[in-house]
Amino acid sequence: MQDLSSLWQAVLDKLELTVSNISFVMWFKPLKVVDFVDNKKLIIAANSTSAKNQILRNYFDKLSTAVNDIFGDNIEIEVLDQNEEIDYIKTHGDSAKEKEVEVSKNPFNAKYTFDNFVVGKSNQFVYAAARAVAEHPGEKFNPLFIYGGVGLGKTHLLHAIGNYLKEFSPMLNVMYVTCEQFTNDYIESLGPASKSKAVNEFRSKYRNLDVLMVDDIQFISKKTSTQEEFFHTFNELYQNNKQIIITSDRPPKDIETLADRLRSRFTCGLIQDIQSPDLETRIAILRKKCQLEKYAIDDDVINFVAERINTNIRELEGMLSKIYFLANLSNKHSATMEEALEAFNGQLEEDRNEGLSPDDIIDTVCKYFDITRQDIVGKKKSKDVVEPRMIAIYLISEILEIPLVSIGKIFGGRDHTTIMHSRDKISDELKTSHKYQSFISEIKKMLKGG
Ligand code: ADP
Ligand code: MG
Repeated sequence: MQDLSSLWQAVLDKLELTVSNISFVMWFKPLKVVDFVDNKKLIIAANSTSAKNQILRNYFDKLSTAVNDIFGDNIEIEVLDQNEEIDYIKTHGDSAKEKEVEVSKNPFNAKYTFDNFVVGKSNQFVYAAARAVAEHPGEKFNPLFIYGGVGLGKTHLLHAIGNYLKEFSPMLNVMYVTCEQFTNDYIESLGPASKSKAVNEFRSKYRNLDVLMVDDIQFISKKTSTQEEFFHTFNELYQNNKQIIITSDRPPKDIETLADRLRSRFTCGLIQDIQSPDLETRIAILRKKCQLEKYAIDDDVINFVAERINTNIRELEGMLSKIYFLANLSNKHSATMEEALEAFNGQLEEDRNEGLSPDDIIDTVCKYFDITRQDIVGKKKSKDVVEPRMIAIYLISEILEIPLVSIGKIFGGRDHTTIMHSRDKISDELKTSHKYQSFISEIKKMLKGG
């Protein structure tokens, strides 16, 4: 049991990471949680009718993703304006603050099943492997290592395996963790309190599993102790023919932080990639989504969206729900091209990087670190200059997508490999270093005028 306000705070924390600073402060921060009815329906109040409409119109998909992450799946959300809130409290009382909430225990998302996974050329092999593993855990491909870009269905497949096992082999002890959870769990077990007991608990939790799934292993830290622990967990399970399934955004050979002996363990089973879906598959995925969510959306809209978003399936789905909500707002039975065009336009407006130049980024980074422009593009090698320089290079490359050679010219004629090295160094640091994460997010805020 947890109290409603701390759960709501967790939703806000998530949202803060996914929307711009301005949107967060304007639209999300003022929201209040009013009630949570029957563990199913979350009632939220905005402080004006226009704020309510903004949320429904532009941010509903982000809001519902965050709510589902924290409260569990299939939570219905109702947004009230200030008058509706007063009415609500009049009839139902103001009990939200003390409310205790049962958060759903099933770790597997009910929507992420094999049935809901659309199979096409890009993912047919990985689908077959995941199914085989679900049907014969520990017997077919062990470990199964799945890799591919963001939003291509890796997590979906892990949950599908989990849901399948829960249904057909309910007595098996199945665990899904993100790499981050595994790491935190381990580090916590090393805490001051009754040391060895906590470590033993950690070990018995992880080493007595029938199936262990670790999502996003690329975030495994360089720390030898964590890798060591994972290595032993892996061996123990593997030797007992227990199934291990791992995902990553890249193949084992490209995970720089990975110790060689773990890397070679991963290669003893099946390593299978998942690729970006082709147009036909994207259309099929959108159709499936309409069917699951009961969206009425015109065929030309589906084609339009599928043609424009071609890599990340999460974005594909996000755009579809945005279009659906726009149609809903204007009380239409079915979403048409009108809403599709509006939805894509909104996205462009939100993209405030338009109009930024490399100079803007350089100036902002200089201001942030309190150094001069000559320093940052010049030859100085002291740490207080090198670090900002790499950050500026990273930001220019990431935000403006300018070719490395051109960035080299801006930075006093540096070679493109030097530029690439700087960019990669920062993007590596960002995976683990809070210091760099806050540098980048604060500079981005400044760039957005925040
Ligand atoms: P990843 O873990 O690879 O970043 P996810 O598994 O989170 O990606 O997938 C992102 C979204 O796309 C999820 O909502 C998922 O259900 C959906 N999705 C991905 N692949 C498919 C597919 N083949 N069929 C249906 N939905 C898919
Ligand atoms: Mg994932």
